[in-house]
Amino acid sequence: MLTNSQLAELLSREADQAEGVRQRALRRAARSAFLWPDAAVALVQRGGALTELHGVGPFIASQLQRWIDDPPAALDDVPLIRRDFLDLAQARAVLDAQPRWRERLRGDLQMHTQWSDGSATVAEMAAAAAERGYEYIAITDHTKGLSIAGGIDETQMAQQEAEIEALNREALTPRVTVLRSAELNLNTRGEGDMDRRCLAQLDIVLGSFHSALRTKEDQTERYLAALRNPELHIVGHPRGRVYNYRAGLMADWPRVFAEAAKLDKAVEIDSYPDRQDLNVELLKLVRCAGARVSLGTDAHHAWQLEFIDLGLAAALKAKIEPDRIINFLPLPDLKRWVSSLRR
Ligand SMILES: [Zn+2]
Repeated sequence: MLTNSQLAELLSREADQAEGVRQRALRRAARSAFLWPDAAVALVQRGGALTELHGVGPFIASQLQRWIDDPPAALDDVPLIRRDFLDLAQARAVLDAQPRWRERLRGDLQMHTQWSDGSATVAEMAAAAAERGYEYIAITDHTKGLSIAGGIDETQMAQQEAEIEALNREALTPRVTVLRSAELNLNTRGEGDMDRRCLAQLDIVLGSFHSALRTKEDQTERYLAALRNPELHIVGHPRGRVYNYRAGLMADWPRVFAEAAKLDKAVEIDSYPDRQDLNVELLKLVRCAGARVSLGTDAHHAWQLEFIDLGLAAALKAKIEPDRIINFLPLPDLKRWVSSLRR
């Protein structure tokens, strides 16, 4: 039975042969396929219409129907730039088979708000998290070096602090504690772009690379430098891959993850559908190294908190030990971990 991610691969291949409007429609449908709540094949079996699915008009529906009726062979040799991405329907099937796993999740540790390039306010993100039953979330707006994503400086960070503190104090969203964080923009030497004293005020610091992501040379040193940066606790979307756009960086991953384990730092599963970074294959190496893992949706809209299922399923498929996942920690333990890294 064809999965939605296999259908996405077929749509992407078809897009490579097409041009103009058709190509854009095929590419858009391929990306949508990762978010369809149901397996398209199951929908058809139930007598549903493929056009019910997001991003599917009559043209795409007839393409999909042909593949469903007569599944093409040789779907194994997926190019690296599109390899090892889970779709949401698949991820939910994986999680439904082990309900305990999802119950362990206490929060989401990467999301953006209107302070940088997100669409929602901090309060709206917190309300969405409360609906999901979370205990905490980390607000990780971009920092000033990434001006293209509206990165914020130390002054804005202080203003955001006032907003978050008021929110936590007023307890407008019972149960959910909003943690002050940032997606620190790292240069290729693993250094951040913010005042050290400002970062020391945050509850937790995520840092990511957003530049020189297409180099083909080994980038092990860049990762070791980032992990050794005392300002940083989590390395966000480590490879920097994006579905059908950028394959991401290369490194001696066992060495990188061994260093993370030695320093007790976390590497992220960015659960954004286009990213899924780290992916299952690399997460198996993380498991062997024993490093900590952080789950974040990288949500830019409140509804995108549902992307967490992709990260949860990837961790489960890679058999990451639950005690290695920092989002499974109660809040006091999460804070203790950060304090221990700062000492
Ligand atoms: Zn980022």
